[in-house]
Amino acid sequence: MRSFAITQYGEPLQCIDADPPEPVGTQVLLKVRAAGVCHTDLHIWEGGYDMGSGRMLRLADRGQTLPHTMGHETVGEVLEIGSEAKGVSVGETHLIYPWIGCGTCAVCRADTEQLCPTPQYLGVFRPGGYADLITVPHPRYLIDIGSLSPERAAPYACSGLTTFSALKKLGSRIEEPVLIIGAGGLGLMCIALHKALGGRAVVVADVEPAKRQAALDAGAAAAIDPMAEDAAGQIAKAIGGPLWSIIDFVGSPSSWAMMMGSISKGGVYVMVGLFGGETVLSLPAIPLRAITVSGSFVGSRPELIELMRLVGSGRVGNVPITTRPLQEVNAAITDLRDGHVLGRGVLIP
Ligand SMILES: [Zn+2]
Ligand SMILES: [Zn+2]
Repeated sequence: MRSFAITQYGEPLQCIDADPPEPVGTQVLLKVRAAGVCHTDLHIWEGGYDMGSGRMLRLADRGQTLPHTMGHETVGEVLEIGSEAKGVSVGETHLIYPWIGCGTCAVCRADTEQLCPTPQYLGVFRPGGYADLITVPHPRYLIDIGSLSPERAAPYACSGLTTFSALKKLGSRIEEPVLIIGAGGLGLMCIALHKALGGRAVVVADVEPAKRQAALDAGAAAAIDPMAEDAAGQIAKAIGGPLWSIIDFVGSPSSWAMMMGSISKGGVYVMVGLFGGETVLSLPAIPLRAITVSGSFVGSRPELIELMRLVGSGRVGNVPITTRPLQEVNAAITDLRDGHVLGRGVLIP
């Protein structure tokens, strides 16, 4: 098998050839058909997350070992099945749920294994989809994609699931106008899913004109430059009432400041982006303004199943994707880092 792996953080991925793995027990071996390139891959490639004040959350300290094959938005075709893997057949094409936990703790048993304290995420702690083959520990992680093409289905494992789970955290106000901060791949996906879930209007804030245009093309009611002097006034005008809900796909000190300057009393702020850094917070503002601050990390396996049913119903508009061959993975990563990718980049082995 061939994979593209991190051998040194921040350096180009290296092509590694190895013998194909043999699935044992409940394992399933799949031929990779499509592998989405996610912003999180940039953090993994760099070795971790900026936690502020010069501190870094290092993936090496969390159990990641090199060489490591990234790729957590993977669609594969079943090639070989372990002797104890049931309910799956050779030749089927599935989306892989990558947010795998230990499988035995209370968090995993509650079907929220994306929050397991000892994660085994494919593409983060276990080999992922930047390869021609991938091993999945159990058929339960193979999700039906209906008639969707592999490249269209792949981004739902992270970008789609993350936005779907964030939108669900808005509760009964999901239909009200929402402010989305950041119009990259996640922001555009969120616009499509908000509409599919019955949402009325999305207002987007992004510093880049091309991304604001992409958001408008994707159906946003308005797209605002957060650096504009009257940005808060523009947001208020575009929302046209209380701003109950903000989903932040940036997660920076300036996006936090934007939230504090625009959210209504009783509003819900869902923070997804991992840009990083730190902020000084005037604590009474949270109770006095009754703001709910909710962190959201990917989503659960049942949520991915629910999401793929919604996508299968045809109610979710297509988000822009750009496909390129797997061997161009390094260019795909640097293009994403430099902000040159509109929508989602998907690698095809
Ligand atoms: Zn991701
Ligand atoms: Zn667990």
